[in-house]
Amino acid sequence: MTTVCPHCGWPDDQLFQVLSRHRTGTGLTVWSRCACGSTQVREIGVTGTRVLSRGRPVQTPPCHA
Ligand SMILES: [Zn+2]
Repeated sequence: MTTVCPHCGWPDDQLFQVLSRHRTGTGLTVWSRCACGSTQVREIGVTGTRVLSRGRPVQTPPCHA
């Protein structure tokens, strides 16, 4: 089953950008960033990939004052 990002529709099984990977007792925890800029925490284990949490898209600041 493929889930997609609710913000931009990017497929969750296609990593846009990997921020960091952490090996855990159950598998691998991957922090990734979507095409829309939202960060995701996913757990990759023997049963597959599971998105644990998902952030909001990054709002680009209008300017740096
Ligand atoms: Zn997205």
